[in-house]
Amino acid sequence: IASLEEQLKDKLKEVFGYSSFRGTQEAIIKNILDGRNTFVIMPTGAGKSLCYQLPALILDGAAIVISPLIALMKNQVDQLNAVGVNAQFLNSTLTKTEMNRVKRETLSGEVQLLYVAPESLTKEENIEFLKKANISFAAIDEAHCISEWGHDFRPEYRRIKQILAQISNMPVIALTATATPKVQIDIQKNLQMEEADIFKSSFNRENLYYEVRPKQHTKKQLVKFVKSQKGKSGIVYCLSRKKVEEIANLLQVNDVKAAPYHAGLDAAVRIKNQDDFLNEEVDVIVATIAFGMGIDKPDVRFVVHYDTPKSLEGYYQETGRAGRDGLEGNCIMFYSYNDIIKLEKFNKDKTVTERDNARVLLDEMVSYAESSLCRRKQLLHYFGESYEHDCNFCDNCLKPREKFDGEEYVQWVLRA
Ligand code: ADP
Ligand code: MG
Repeated sequence: IASLEEQLKDKLKEVFGYSSFRGTQEAIIKNILDGRNTFVIMPTGAGKSLCYQLPALILDGAAIVISPLIALMKNQVDQLNAVGVNAQFLNSTLTKTEMNRVKRETLSGEVQLLYVAPESLTKEENIEFLKKANISFAAIDEAHCISEWGHDFRPEYRRIKQILAQISNMPVIALTATATPKVQIDIQKNLQMEEADIFKSSFNRENLYYEVRPKQHTKKQLVKFVKSQKGKSGIVYCLSRKKVEEIANLLQVNDVKAAPYHAGLDAAVRIKNQDDFLNEEVDVIVATIAFGMGIDKPDVRFVVHYDTPKSLEGYYQETGRAGRDGLEGNCIMFYSYNDIIKLEKFNKDKTVTERDNARVLLDEMVSYAESSLCRRKQLLHYFGESYEHDCNFCDNCLKPREKFDGEEYVQWVLRA
């Protein structure tokens, strides 16, 4: 009889084609197989999906997987189907007939992974159906969506636990790449899993170089930088759709193979531009933050934030898309106090709490951008990790500059 370790390794090879586990994947999988609540905090690209996919294949019944984006779910379902796993999704894009088939196959025990959009999970008829099904566990991917302190808060996510509890007393696996202590506590409270076993790996990305540049002659700086990266894949993030179009155009007229990506584009155009980027017909994708979640292109060599981002978490997620293959990744962010003011204006229609939260996040961004301390140290500190020495691989370590002009900072502090 094969040991559990051998069994896991065989499945890993047979289904996913990998010969060894990465990091703590195996320990996490065993924890899930033991039926324990599990909280996985690992950076983007670390391989979190496998942590729930593999045990779902071993346990009886279907694992529910909750993920915020239909595109993300479809991607995983397609990949699993391609290797012969019965994974299905339940969301609003299905026809009545498809929906019935998925339900039938789930009730008969054929489905091993059932991906459910949070909106679908809250539907009464689906809850009734899930009550009848044999569910092995629930995996909540991108669990930071639960927290208002996260960079991608989804109100529906806060109801997940309550609904799962109605279905059955199943173990819950929460996964996220957002590791700030505030978000972590929120997630655990909301999912009532203060007792969960936590698997948190380091967020340090040694191969990423971090730099913050003042937003002056930004277009010129951008063109110069992108040209210095000729033929390499990169992402340029902008705050607005309009800016995306403008910058994509700027790069194109400067002979860079660039394409825009934002939610305002026709779906067909958006998909084509994304595919062109993935297939390297296009070198640079200029995008709003709508681009990137679930995109798995290993050789993105640079990520530029043309506009100052609204939180360090979001920023870190986005820069995390560079250098997934472990090779060089340049992360350049343009910073200006004006951008911060603009961002603050976006919040004026929000509730008081939302506005206060957003302001705290902006404050953190300002102090990061204006600091002359090692960037990596600051970022890791932000994620609750201590990093003792200076990294020698960020702008502040490699080219210590004169102290930031205090004027802007004073304005910022006094702004209220
Ligand atoms: P995350 O959700 O943590 O961002 P993913 O689950 O999307 O990461 O995985 C990132 C990439 O790593 C995927 O291409 C995946 O197939 C690959 N991967 C995961 N586990 C392994 C492994 N044990 N060996 C090799 N590649 C792996
Ligand atoms: Mg993931």
